[in-house]
Amino acid sequence: NSKRDPYRLDKSNAHFRKAVQKMPLGVSSNFRYWGDNNTVYVKHGRGARVTDLDGNVYVDYRLGYGPAILGHCHPEVDAAAREGQQVGTVFALGTEREYTVASMISEMVPAAELVRFSNSGTEAVMAALRLARGATGKDHYVTFEGSYHGLFDSTMWTLDTDTIQEGREPDIVSYGKGIPAAVRSLFWQVPYNDAQRLEDVLKKHGHTIAAVLIEPILGNCCGIPSKPEFIKAVRELCTKYGVLMIVDEVKTGFRVRRGGAQELYGVKADICTMAKAVGNGYPIACIGGREDIMRNYGRGVAHGGTYTAQAMSLAAAEKTLTILRDTSALDDIAAYGTAMQEGMHKILSARGIPHSFTGHPSMSGLFFRETPPSNYRDWKTSDYTFYDTLAHHLIPRGVMCEPDSREPWFISTAHDKACLDETLDTFEYCVDLTIEE
Ligand code: PMP
Repeated sequence: NSKRDPYRLDKSNAHFRKAVQKMPLGVSSNFRYWGDNNTVYVKHGRGARVTDLDGNVYVDYRLGYGPAILGHCHPEVDAAAREGQQVGTVFALGTEREYTVASMISEMVPAAELVRFSNSGTEAVMAALRLARGATGKDHYVTFEGSYHGLFDSTMWTLDTDTIQEGREPDIVSYGKGIPAAVRSLFWQVPYNDAQRLEDVLKKHGHTIAAVLIEPILGNCCGIPSKPEFIKAVRELCTKYGVLMIVDEVKTGFRVRRGGAQELYGVKADICTMAKAVGNGYPIACIGGREDIMRNYGRGVAHGGTYTAQAMSLAAAEKTLTILRDTSALDDIAAYGTAMQEGMHKILSARGIPHSFTGHPSMSGLFFRETPPSNYRDWKTSDYTFYDTLAHHLIPRGVMCEPDSREPWFISTAHDKACLDETLDTFEYCVDLTIEE
């Protein structure tokens, strides 16, 4: 059946050979390099679909790692962005719309009593961590194994799973070269969903710890969710030990609920960060927090940036948030996600393949074991080759998921019945291919 033949990437591959002469790995992010003969270059995205240079069309479950929550090139958001351009680009001065969008964010996310804008998730989390340090006068912080908080030195650390052994704590290693070893002395990293381990650290070192930095759903580790009692315990422990709770909602914000994962779990951060879904892909992020903490930005804590609250992105954000707030968008997205899980469940069950889904239907991980992982060690030591093999059959047949199981599948409002039918049809075919291998 020729319809099932994998896509050819002749033009993408030719472009790669050209691009790699000018750009390391031929791309602008190491994660976009999928191999010398496998790196896809995009012609354009429309709605839930992406077309590559060869004209191959994919149903997109990556959405740029989450931002395009209303689909690519959403007409109303793009019109708003064009209108924003009429204001100008940047002025090194404020504009009125910042207040409008900040107010919308506060209304949707109660923890964000006051708001500041940034351009990316990395910048927002960097700013939040500095704010926590400035507000508490303490330098240290806690993160969780398997989390991702951006490209900066403070958070590019992970568990060295090769050193997991009975009776010995594994090492924490940087994500790569160029990250100073000196940073390692500033933080503790504890297993996710383990409140006891967090309390052990806070009890002993809370007097030097400014903040606990947590992703409410591990959006960079198969979408492993916080257990409700865990995230509530994190909240209580932070209060008990005088440590600020920074909830990194870069992925979950304005996606899993209008008020993000904080609404989903009923917890309130001291400081939170939102990015991806805020502007439907236009570069904008925000830091929100308790008024007394946020006021430290006027009391000696530095924050700024040439492009913060850039007029076009801000206009896109106002429109995106209006749609997310006033329509059934997030319910529709979750309903699609649930239907997709049900469809996959049927296909996998019929073949006796153990599996489970993690995260939230709008950003869910697919895991090939009956019980989903509850932390990074559990995920890392499990067999995820089935997923990886399956993904490598799906992508060249038009279902653009992440090639490895760390990223969840992101849904947008543009994913419709046709996308779902096509996805499940291809999924069934590719599951059989994977079994045969
Ligand atoms: N925090 C989280 C939870 C993220 O998922 C990401 C990006 N995947 C970041 C921070 C960094 O955001 P950005 O890539 O926009 O810098």
